[in-house]
Amino acid sequence: MVVPAIGATFRTPHLPTGLTKPKLRRFMEKVVIMGSGCAGLTAALYTARANLQPLVLTGLQPGGLLTTTTIVENYPGFPEGIDGFQLMGQMQKQAERFGARVKFATVEAVDLARRPLVLTVDGEPVETETLIIASGASHRHIGLASEHKLENKGVTYCATCDGALPMFRNQPLVVVGGGDSACEEAMYLTRFGSVVNLVHRRDTLRASKIMAERALANPKIQPVWDSVVTEVLDVEQDKVTGVRLKNVKTTAEKVIDCAGVFVAIGHLPNTQLFKGVIEMDEAGYIIPKRGTATNVPGVFVAGDCADRVYRQAVTAAGLGCAAAMDAERYLAARNE
Ligand code: NAP
Repeated sequence: MVVPAIGATFRTPHLPTGLTKPKLRRFMEKVVIMGSGCAGLTAALYTARANLQPLVLTGLQPGGLLTTTTIVENYPGFPEGIDGFQLMGQMQKQAERFGARVKFATVEAVDLARRPLVLTVDGEPVETETLIIASGASHRHIGLASEHKLENKGVTYCATCDGALPMFRNQPLVVVGGGDSACEEAMYLTRFGSVVNLVHRRDTLRASKIMAERALANPKIQPVWDSVVTEVLDVEQDKVTGVRLKNVKTTAEKVIDCAGVFVAIGHLPNTQLFKGVIEMDEAGYIIPKRGTATNVPGVFVAGDCADRVYRQAVTAAGLGCAAAMDAERYLAARNE
């Protein structure tokens, strides 16, 4: 079945190496990996070391979501932390050292009913025996121009990645959202900020009871109900100094001073391309059947596009390894 392309909502590519538009080879691939975040590049490393010469298609955000954060302090092996962009560059080099081919290219359509599987990649057909979907998830954004301009200058989408940065220490902070993520991020940030304002658009949290109770019982968390962020301040100063809020019931406006805005209003898995073909839940997260295998033979999944719970670099890398091993075993069984 040919499925229409994902609406492109990605940002500009970052990783510099090997990212020219290539001519894709016209023979059958053994393994194509869609996505170049932690899951995709770990799958590439493992399948490359198994002599499968994987082809990694980066999508429009080479290196994935981690390239949008600054210091990653919770990836094992880097006691001083490592820049997210640098970490992904090193993962790419490591996979390439064993024969992975990383190409800046986008999968536009897939036909998974045929054997071999056929992908349309930048207008060209690519045939492959197996496909590892590691297309990740995108943070949902509020959608404000000021939010976009101050990203990585105080606006962030990951408290675990960025919360401990010196710029947020002992400063008032804002978390936007009312779900489990927002509560979890707010609680995590109480270790660093002087106060954490939890801004939610309703007067009841969506979060599970236990998370909501824990968050609201924390004396450093101040809920701000029925409120939406209408502007992140201050674009003129090129850093976050506060947020302008509107009360959705009274329409009254107010400004809260803060050094950081942590947006936790959910994620959007990058799986639209597979809708109706690969089994997924109502939110679009792919549901693996056994290990990392999907409902389509030869198609495996790893990382944030199938993980609505953990969403960490290290868990994505682990799943990338598992998908590579599952793909390798699938190929071995076919060739027996
Ligand atoms: P979520 O449950 O979808 O919650 C998103 C929150 O953001 C909701 O409160 C929603 O408001 C708000 N929101 C959405 N769009 C918004 C917008 N444009 N402006 C302002 N607010 C907006 O997402 P999540 O918190 O990331 O959780 C996703 C899933 O992961 C859930 O199943 C959750 O249980 C799970 N999770 C579990 C844990 C844990 O157990 N430790 C931790 C994190 C996540 P409304 O409530 O008004 O819709």
